[in-house]
Amino acid sequence: MRQKKQLMAIVLIGQQGCGKGTQARLLAEKYKLKHIEVGNLLRQIAKEKNSLGKKVDQLINKEGKMIPRDLVIQVIDRAISKATKNEGLILDGTTRRQVEIAPLEKILSKYSYSISYIFYLKISKAITISRLGKRRVCQQCGRSFIAGVDITLQQKKCSFCGGQIIRRIDDRPMAIRQRLAIYQTKTQPVIKYYQQQKKLIEINGKQPIKKVFRDIVQYLDDYYKK
Ligand SMILES: [Zn+2]
Repeated sequence: MRQKKQLMAIVLIGQQGCGKGTQARLLAEKYKLKHIEVGNLLRQIAKEKNSLGKKVDQLINKEGKMIPRDLVIQVIDRAISKATKNEGLILDGTTRRQVEIAPLEKILSKYSYSISYIFYLKISKAITISRLGKRRVCQQCGRSFIAGVDITLQQKKCSFCGGQIIRRIDDRPMAIRQRLAIYQTKTQPVIKYYQQQKKLIEINGKQPIKKVFRDIVQYLDDYYKK
């Protein structure tokens, strides 16, 4: 499973609201990894005023659909190509469907990476719905908060960077239901696949952020000690 000659890539998967974005950010900081957040990269593209931007905006923000696989892979490729030499990767927001598995591995190996760990942050559907309904994000730094927990319900300014706090379009109730349905049909088979391959490390995503982080770090500290 681990090959030291190759560079390390960590994959975080889990249902929307499982906290993978937050964990990826914390892990990237601790281990100096490049954080590749596919959803954020796509949302950036959706803001561009060209035809690609418009198409992505339509799919994510208006129709709540998945982005074509080849585009996802292209975005990941571009992000990896910007990593500095010898920098490990943490991937969040892929692989969300089975057809992404092979092309992702191909791209990783093109840049001498291999997947060292796949962490599955497991939460129930009920938790997903309740977390996403309360999720707010900073438009500037991308940090996410739970309204009523991390920030007050009225808070409009990010306490880290002063950016504006918003509710993402795809976190509205209709969109949440649609994303959950996509998750069930597309991502669940990926989880099964990795489980069968014995590559998946299951983490209880219901726990507080710090505890989830500690559970993941236990595995990675072992890796870095060797
Ligand atoms: Zn911020």
